[in-house]
Amino acid sequence: MGRWQGLRALIFDLDGTLYDSPELLAEYPRQAVAFVAERIRVPPEEARERYGQEALRLKETMGRSPSTTQVLVALTGARLDEWAAFLAARVDPGRFLNPADYGWLRSLLSELHKHYRLAIITNNNRALAERILRLLGVRHLFEVVLTTTESGRLKPDPTLYHQVARMLGVSPQACLAIGDRLAVDIIPARRAGLRAVLVRTPEDLRRLGAELLAAARQKQAEPGPG
Ligand SMILES: [Mg+2]
Repeated sequence: MGRWQGLRALIFDLDGTLYDSPELLAEYPRQAVAFVAERIRVPPEEARERYGQEALRLKETMGRSPSTTQVLVALTGARLDEWAAFLAARVDPGRFLNPADYGWLRSLLSELHKHYRLAIITNNNRALAERILRLLGVRHLFEVVLTTTESGRLKPDPTLYHQVARMLGVSPQACLAIGDRLAVDIIPARRAGLRAVLVRTPEDLRRLGAELLAAARQKQAEPGPG
């Protein structure tokens, strides 16, 4: 219980955290290869090969798996907004996400919203993040949604966490970061002074949500100081 003491805000990752669609998640690297092919003017086969090689090279130098965006930027020198526009024009999350599957998420976040400020930090772009959040039916519950379109930066940049804490008007120590990737979501959040929890599956998220609600309700039931 003491674990959540003083917690005022929850900062979520989007892709792979609030929804779990292997097909939609696979679209990002698939489109990245198409983008590389277009940008460096090579056939798709060669683009796939170059993408794979660059991903391996980055993994060796960084000591962890790079994100789709990192591979593509290294390979093409493209700007984040160019990649965002390409992706937004080609990926329709409505093909992959069925709102009927996410009733549990809407209830969970609506309840959490009564007790905590909610925010998102995503390596996705504004157009797609908005579409996904509206499909899931949870857009209105998030006070701050920071995408690469506004920040021009990618996680694991820890300054993104400071920025969102500031936008919420909450100290980093009073924020909990929640994400599905250790190196991208959890380690940088801790570096920024936040608490952070890894959720690998929707079940993990449900369990954590229930725990956070129980903590908030118990706190509410306690008599005030004095
Ligand atoms: Mg994720």
